[in-house]
Amino acid sequence: MKGKKVLAVLAMALFCLVSCDGGHNPPPPPTTTTTIVDNTTTTTIPGQFKGMVSVTFDDGTRLSENVINALNANWISATFYVITGQVGTEAKYFGWSDIINLYESGHEIGNHTASHKRLICSEDPDNCYGSDEAYLADVTKAQDEFLAQGLPEVKSYAYPYGSISDPVIKLLQGTGFITSARQAYVDGETFNTKANFNAYKLNAVSIRKSTLSQIPGLIDQAIAQDVWLILVFHTVSVAPNPADELDISEEDASQIFQKISSTDIYSVQVSDGLKKMLGQ
Ligand SMILES: [Zn+2]
Repeated sequence: MKGKKVLAVLAMALFCLVSCDGGHNPPPPPTTTTTIVDNTTTTTIPGQFKGMVSVTFDDGTRLSENVINALNANWISATFYVITGQVGTEAKYFGWSDIINLYESGHEIGNHTASHKRLICSEDPDNCYGSDEAYLADVTKAQDEFLAQGLPEVKSYAYPYGSISDPVIKLLQGTGFITSARQAYVDGETFNTKANFNAYKLNAVSIRKSTLSQIPGLIDQAIAQDVWLILVFHTVSVAPNPADELDISEEDASQIFQKISSTDIYSVQVSDGLKKMLGQ
């Protein structure tokens, strides 16, 4: 582990020692303050966070140390939805030690199945589950692999390819361990609000080259409307592949993280956003 990373992890661990409850918890965002000065007194009012944003990463694709440091520097506790069957299989994926480091430095690990197949076989007959039982077995296999690595029960789930169906929602609810399920992109739905809230149909916005310019405005909108915005990142590269819509630059990712930390939005990992939505 390099020096800077050790410092970041130590700083977060120390923060948690003094301010987090129940052992493993993400760091809270820094408190903004408003200072009112009149002729005689100075009063400081704690900042009021409005709206929520979650930064999520799909597939367990490796992030550079720069990107992880940028997350930590902006007090963002992200949710990493990992495909367990791909962990450590290629250099482009995180290894288990990386995933455990992410968890130990305050990020959340989510379930994205063990093998990331298609729900609907007509979409890809050679790479699909074929039955509800096979789907459930793959989610459970991923869960067993997380536990075997010493991680706690993983509660947050993301649908492979974002595809959902009512039977699959029932299967996830029936596992007893999955408490939320995030979609990848929902036509016509951007935010999670009190009115449309469904823990197993979390709305999300996919970060693409073509949506990058809209993200700062969506963060402002989430604050103004006091709603929950979930962002889905796939790959972040030093030199993104121009042909890959989902591959964005480290600079662009860092600007989004800075936008989040410079506003009064509450940055939450998905399991914490869920608790807030449920009033827990
Ligand atoms: Zn995926």
